[in-house]
Amino acid sequence: MENLLNKIIDNNRHLIKNGALADYIPALLQANPNHMGICIMDIDGNVYKAGDYSEKFTIQSISKVMSLMQALIDNGEDYVFKKIDYEPTEEPFNTLFKLDFPHTIKPSNPMINSGAIVTTSLIKGEGEERFNRLLELIRRVAENPNISYNEEVYLSEKETGDKNRAMAYLMKSRGFIEGDVEDILDTYFKQCSIEVTTVDMAKIGLFIANRYRLSKEDKPICNAKIASILTAIMATCGMYNFSGEYAATVGIPSKSGVGGGILGTIPYKMGIGIFSPALDQYGNSIAGYGIMKDLSKELNLNIF
Ligand code: GLN
Repeated sequence: MENLLNKIIDNNRHLIKNGALADYIPALLQANPNHMGICIMDIDGNVYKAGDYSEKFTIQSISKVMSLMQALIDNGEDYVFKKIDYEPTEEPFNTLFKLDFPHTIKPSNPMINSGAIVTTSLIKGEGEERFNRLLELIRRVAENPNISYNEEVYLSEKETGDKNRAMAYLMKSRGFIEGDVEDILDTYFKQCSIEVTTVDMAKIGLFIANRYRLSKEDKPICNAKIASILTAIMATCGMYNFSGEYAATVGIPSKSGVGGGILGTIPYKMGIGIFSPALDQYGNSIAGYGIMKDLSKELNLNIF
């Protein structure tokens, strides 16, 4: 298996030159574009790793899966989806354009910035507590108490995050957000700056695949309905406005982030973490997509 993973990495290395690091968050430009790593964990306890699998990177939009999970645990499905929709969108992940339509429409889904800022606002707690609860959840699910956030990336996001700020204030004016907007944004910027490795992501993917069971505990930490909602939303919205083509060509419920990570989850089977920081036009890891496509084909993982 490791040989196959190394071969897949080598086959996709050439894609890096067609991509670029995210530059709208200046601290992300410090990433090494040549890093490529994979970790796979299956339900039988097998772990396979290759390349730069232990390299740290910021979780970015992949945190949206976990903030949705925490918001659902805290509020239930009905309340959360009063504030956001379940629908894929053809707009880029950082759009705010439809939020200002004359008739009020909800943020399309929780995997793009607007929807995710709402889910973050729905996490119970004041100030730091909101972030700390989310961090604890990620540590618990990834079974890694050392996970923390990157202060430099956090400050860089905060400094350059005016578009997120604009959409958050717009959403407050339209009744989708309650509470202190700067406080909520602070949590959002910090959650995007949480540092993980492909191993942490494979663990999170496996946890969702395993219907919310941690490897050491039998009892799910929340109900199975939440796992099916997360998996469905990852499959339909997780790769932003590329989600349809991704579903058709890869067929693995996934979530990407502009740090270059992709998290994959295959129900009842496995979790996948991939890292390669050069991005395509949609903000997805360009080589990461190639790797997922090859993995899906070679290991017969397409769920559709
Ligand atoms: N922190 C990033 C932002 O808010 C996350 C976006 C992403 O990963 N697509 O713009």
